[in-house]
Amino acid sequence: MREKGELVESMYVRVDYLALTDFVAKVLQKFGVPNEDATITSQNLVKADLRGIESHGVARLKRYTDGLKNDVVRTHPNIRTIRESPVTALVDGDFGLGQVVSYKAMSLAIEKAKKNHVGLVGVRNSNHFGIAGFYGLMALKHDLIGLVMTNTRPLVTPTFSRGKIIGTNPLCVAVPTGGKGFVLDMATSVAPIGKMEVAKRLGKKVPMGWGIDPEGNLTDDPSSISKGALLPLGGLGEVLGGHKGYGLAAVVDIFCGILTGAHFGSTVGETQGPDPANVGHFFGAINPEAFMPLSEFKPRMDQLIGSLKSSEKLPGVEEIYIAGEKSAYTEEIRKKIGVALDLETIGMLRQLSTETGVPFTLTK
Ligand code: NDP
Repeated sequence: MREKGELVESMYVRVDYLALTDFVAKVLQKFGVPNEDATITSQNLVKADLRGIESHGVARLKRYTDGLKNDVVRTHPNIRTIRESPVTALVDGDFGLGQVVSYKAMSLAIEKAKKNHVGLVGVRNSNHFGIAGFYGLMALKHDLIGLVMTNTRPLVTPTFSRGKIIGTNPLCVAVPTGGKGFVLDMATSVAPIGKMEVAKRLGKKVPMGWGIDPEGNLTDDPSSISKGALLPLGGLGEVLGGHKGYGLAAVVDIFCGILTGAHFGSTVGETQGPDPANVGHFFGAINPEAFMPLSEFKPRMDQLIGSLKSSEKLPGVEEIYIAGEKSAYTEEIRKKIGVALDLETIGMLRQLSTETGVPFTLTK
């Protein structure tokens, strides 16, 4: 298996993940974020880089520090449960860092699932939470099924439209197995906006089909797509199922925005401001033991995975994967050899080092 990632050999450097986690946490502390919250946020960003998801890693750090500087992200939010039952809760994130609010909300869902088999927690008044998989993996540690969704600022066009009306609204379903788990973690658009950012940083084009320019034409230019719109999963029109991706994005928004009282659709803001983003999330934890003993459930999952992986391969194909497998492998490798950061990201981290006085010792 190969390491995941878009990076071009000559354009990145390897950085030790623990040193990077420490640096990012220290930078966030300089912006007033308490130590524990800074560490959670840093772990979420570095986890993305470890798992080969450069689109949502530390390259996004400045966006969060800008939000803190602009006072649209609060350093000491009063995160509180405003509605509760034994199996549900509605959490007000008080415009804290999305990672901090989400860590608390997912922990609450897990606590409820351990007591009552299921925990469902909606969140309002939050911010961008990074990769959804981070919270799905939290559930896996407790042998629970994790369900994670968030809405995002509007970036995606509904089928037959060219307006940016809905978010890339990712969802993650994480399921315990005998191995490292099944972890489906995906945007409901063909690609998240972060992949346009990565392509721009590397000076690359993107595949035709990811998005449209402001006039509604398909384009492979990531800057034109950023000005135009991303396409829902399945792409342009109905032929390859674009309407289903559009429907999925709306479903995520219904759980995260409508049901929680957060912003939804085109009203969701950006983490760096100028206005509070009021992103909504939805977290679920389900105990398989509510249905059958874990000792039966996990072998059944392994049987499914075994049959998927051993199905007949297309010519030239080395391996059939399951969701989360490539990320888990990349994480294992990168913990040993370091995460790969592109040069523009290194430059941004150096600037933050100068601005905050946190020494930059990640590269020479
Ligand atoms: P990808 O398209 O890279 O991957 C989606 C899923 O498909 C992953 O679970 C992946 O597993 C799996 N997968 C990849 N290749 C195969 C294969 N050949 N066979 C089976 N499964 C496969 O993800 P996206 O680009 O859509 O999203 C990237 C990240 O961006 C996610 O972590 C998401 O949460 C995050 N995101 C966050 C947003 C936010 O606002 N907070 C908005 C949008 C996205 P594996 O991980 O092993 O590759």
